[in-house]
Amino acid sequence: MPKKAPAILQKACRSCKYIIEEDTAVCPSCGGTDFSTDWSGLVVILDPDTSEIAKILGVKRAGRYAIRVR
Ligand SMILES: [Zn+2]
Repeated sequence: MPKKAPAILQKACRSCKYIIEEDTAVCPSCGGTDFSTDWSGLVVILDPDTSEIAKILGVKRAGRYAIRVR
């Protein structure tokens, strides 16, 4: 059996770093279409209004974000 990519393949939006499933065409966060599967680090934002990390990252939507996107 050939080795394939992980079952749950995800990619990160290059403009807002929002992490989405590989088969998603448009970023639900910023509407961008430029993605990278080469990302690292993961931040989960549960409540953007109270999260200090959300303020630092400048995100306004709950979800998972990559720390670094290449
Ligand atoms: Zn985006």
